[in-house]
Amino acid sequence: MAAAHPLVIVGASYAGVQLAASARELGFEERIVIVGDEVHAPYQRPPLSKGLLTGKTSVDNLALRGPDFFAQNAIDLMLGRRAIALDPGARSVRLDDGAVLDYGWLALATGARCRPFALPGSTLEGVLDLRTLDDALRIADAAGRTERACVIGGGFIGLEVASALRARGAEVTVVEAQPHLLARAFPPLMSSYVENAHRRRGVALLTGRGVRALHGAQGRVAAVELDDGTRIDCDLVVLGIGVLPNAELAQQAGIAVDNGIVVDMLGRTSAPRVLAAGDVASMALPPAPGVPARMRLESIQSANDGARALASLVVGREAPCTAVPWFWSDQFDLKLQMTGLAAPGDEVVLRGDMASDRFSVFYLRQGTLVAAHSVNKPAEHMQSRKLIGARARLGADQLADPSFDLKTVA
Ligand code: FAD
Ligand code: NAP
Repeated sequence: MAAAHPLVIVGASYAGVQLAASARELGFEERIVIVGDEVHAPYQRPPLSKGLLTGKTSVDNLALRGPDFFAQNAIDLMLGRRAIALDPGARSVRLDDGAVLDYGWLALATGARCRPFALPGSTLEGVLDLRTLDDALRIADAAGRTERACVIGGGFIGLEVASALRARGAEVTVVEAQPHLLARAFPPLMSSYVENAHRRRGVALLTGRGVRALHGAQGRVAAVELDDGTRIDCDLVVLGIGVLPNAELAQQAGIAVDNGIVVDMLGRTSAPRVLAAGDVASMALPPAPGVPARMRLESIQSANDGARALASLVVGREAPCTAVPWFWSDQFDLKLQMTGLAAPGDEVVLRGDMASDRFSVFYLRQGTLVAAHSVNKPAEHMQSRKLIGARARLGADQLADPSFDLKTVA
């Protein structure tokens, strides 16, 4: 194996590991190094807000790849090491221990971190956020003792944590600044459904409310004070208030950053031979009316498909990432599955009965299916993904009719 043009990957999670795996599958023969600042071997994040908190998943079942994967594929995994500077001119990356890695290709797969929460009381014991395995273990430990929890932020983290804590018997209040839950991902019909679903399962929801301060007793959190003066007594606060992209390495090197590292559909940044994928990448999207030109799609599918596009580049091929986005969320007994990108103005079509917790909501743009949100309807979700990818044209009456078989659409 030649060592002249190694592939150096910063970030040892979904995007980084998938890139290394796909590059080897496509025949990349040079050295591959993955640098990751966490000390754990690459692990799965979704269970951190789901099974790990309810106790249904154990920490031993979180590995992203089998124990021999990295050695078998000749991938050097450097854990507990942080890349601190990038020099695109010299094609080198400096690590926090002083080592300098020269690269032929560099991939930034540095993901995202929790948005900081700087209000008074945010450093009290019992105020926790969630991104990493260590964060999740702290919450799981506290969950065993909590009687009253307050979750700040009604996005996916907040709602998955709320459902896990509720399932363990805690009283749970969710405070969301926006007028609706999941406002970034869902139009009002789906947001209202999720709100009702949580209320029916005993979660108290306060939407359109900001937090003024957290209060403590003997150094431990005891209450959340909202900006209208409401006080929520609690012994645990979990923050799910969004993420920031880890784009500083790129920014300091003069690479274009705009709420994430700007990449084209192939995954190329503004610097030659520097690529990016996953949560850190603001990826160009195929042009479509109502859809932004670029977006950070914070999901595992996006990290994996973005990484596959990078792998093609490093073996000299161009395979733009045009995959239909999809992701899922488990809350209580509800499996939510989302695919495509809905936009304001899309025609909204309900199929099934929301009260039964088994239905899909479809989004049509000028007669073409562009997105679908399903609850406990995995077959409809899978079919929707295919139809969206095929740009299928459908009538609202067909979609709304549960007896109309989506598999028969050409
Ligand atoms: P990350 O997973 O964020 O990994 C980036 C890695 O790079 C991190 O280990 C970071 O520490 C490291 N790093 C950063 N800077 C440096 C540096 N300078 N040097 C070295 N290393 C560095 N998505 C879904 O689709 N479905 C789900 O159900 C789902 N559930 C989730 C539950 C939780 C609790 C969380 C936190 C996320 C969830 N997501 C889910 C989102 C999904 O996990 C992310 O979209 C995905 O992890 C993105 O992968 P990534 O490789 O881009 O970045
Ligand atoms: P998110 O989806 O951005 O939701 C955070 C919510 O909290 C937003 O609605 C935000 O409103 C609100 N908020 C911000 N500050 C607040 C405050 N001070 N008080 C009350 N509400 C506040 O982010 P997240 O739920 O924290 O998730 C973090 C990341 O993990 C995301 O990348 C997410 O996709 C990923 N994740 C995914 C899944 C899944 O796919 N199933 C599960 C868990 C996590 P504003 O928009 O106004 O800021």
